[in-house]
Amino acid sequence: MHRFLATRKGNLLVISGQEFRHFRALRVKKGALVELLCEEDLFLASVLGVSKDCALCAPIQKVKKTTPTPQVVVYQCLPVELRLMEEVVDRLSQAGAVKLVPLLCERGSTAKRPEEKLDKWRRLALSAFKQCGRPEPLEVASPVPLKEFVLQEELVFLLDNFNASRSIKEVDLTKHTYGLVVGPEGGFSRREVTLLVEKGCVPLLLKPYVYRTEMAGAVATALLMNLAGQR
Ligand code: SAH
Repeated sequence: MHRFLATRKGNLLVISGQEFRHFRALRVKKGALVELLCEEDLFLASVLGVSKDCALCAPIQKVKKTTPTPQVVVYQCLPVELRLMEEVVDRLSQAGAVKLVPLLCERGSTAKRPEEKLDKWRRLALSAFKQCGRPEPLEVASPVPLKEFVLQEELVFLLDNFNASRSIKEVDLTKHTYGLVVGPEGGFSRREVTLLVEKGCVPLLLKPYVYRTEMAGAVATALLMNLAGQR
């Protein structure tokens, strides 16, 4: 079923603007069932009518959002090549992470105001949400300095292709919440590795090769979503 972003108009939901162009491109017809995200709610709705510039839909029911377990939060060091974050958002959305927290680190982006990209990253998260069928868009938080990193999940892995030897088969896969810390293109500095391990992060090695920064978090997320949590 196709998904669109909609706005409320009385008891109805309206697809307009850029979303309506997408709707037209997919050739959705009057009477079709669609899923519509309006504010925070996801609705099953039927298309009542299509005009030149919008589609009017009647909500049938709210779709119950069941977020799968485990919940994976990815702490991604901002890459020097900042546009790679667009791939990070798209891949993490598909893999099933619930939240992305950009980290400012020693060997990462030197952009003065990376938070200016937040709107773009959040728009990409919405577009990935429509494509992959997840219950909610990936939440994208504001960038924070790596040294202020606070361990919040039950188990947090430091993805470390350099020093780690522990593989995914050797870790506790029974937790409900996991964190993953991913380095930038040049990896973490020694100081950062020491700091993160002191804070309680557990070094993890993904096999068999070295991934690019925009791939590593998504691979680890997909592994946890398939191996850990729900049985
Ligand atoms: N040039 C760096 C590689 C950085 S890859 C080096 O040689 O060390 C970017 C980030 O992706 C890494 O910091 C790490 O967090 C993650 N990563 C990539 N491949 C990985 C692997 N095989 N295991 C664990 N983490 C990996």
